[in-house]
Amino acid sequence: MKNFRDYMFKSYGRFDYTPQDCFNFHESIASEVVPILNDLSLERKQQLKVSDLRPWDKAVDPLGREPLKAFENGNDLTEKSIESFKRLDPFLGQCLSIMKEMGHLDLESRKGKAPGGYNYPLSEIGVPFIFMNATSTMRDMTTIMHEGGHAIHNFLTKDLSLADFKSPPMEVAELASMSMELISMDTWDIFFPDAEDLKRAKREQLEDIIETLPWVATIDQFQHGLYEKPDHTSEERTQLWNKVLARFSDSVTDWSGLEANRDTLWQKQLHLYEVPFYYIEYGMAQLGAHSVVA
Ligand SMILES: [Zn+2]
Repeated sequence: MKNFRDYMFKSYGRFDYTPQDCFNFHESIASEVVPILNDLSLERKQQLKVSDLRPWDKAVDPLGREPLKAFENGNDLTEKSIESFKRLDPFLGQCLSIMKEMGHLDLESRKGKAPGGYNYPLSEIGVPFIFMNATSTMRDMTTIMHEGGHAIHNFLTKDLSLADFKSPPMEVAELASMSMELISMDTWDIFFPDAEDLKRAKREQLEDIIETLPWVATIDQFQHGLYEKPDHTSEERTQLWNKVLARFSDSVTDWSGLEANRDTLWQKQLHLYEVPFYYIEYGMAQLGAHSVVA
């Protein structure tokens, strides 16, 4: 192989798309999504009434409101999630109910519990379990919608004859879960009976997606650059990073004085270290989820 990237494409069995297809995807994100990112940042800057929008200004509610509260406790979250799934389709509600009856929903955070949140398939019995550390935030609510999407996928594939058929390829592994986050939005009034809260929750969810796609492109394009030039110096690598980051970031945020932090921002993305070239899939799945809903 010419480089590690080409090797990884073969190793992942990517027979139906090429690096060039990834570059085209990046280009679409740069031209279609980044302008929205700019609009959102400008709006945020005005709402916060700050002269410069600093990176940390992105992590607060622009109107100074308290965080949204989606439910009271683990039981409440379970009941409301079943209700939400049931309203979408009785079968979906039934899947979650079965998991509840079997003790397969371990949702609430407690002292000494391992961190994280995931759905884990159990191929022999066909009923998965969901492990989470919920408190009462909106993020916890979207997490169970997401994991619930994985769970439904497990129910639907449990009777396939070969276990290997039950796991989808990487490009669509997050398709059912990301779709469920969006499909379930029609029932979020169960979690947010107040009309203003409901609107805010939906907006936050959609803004999240607007921010995710450019980040996916950033990490993916940086990775291509890294392995196309395996012998660049750490200075050249930093230059590459900043060039890629600037392409997919809003041009409103002021990083002055924080250059050292910006230069190393890529290091927070564990995929670059642990699963090289597994990242574009999040963008593909998100796009797929949009097509499902549209
Ligand atoms: Zn997932």
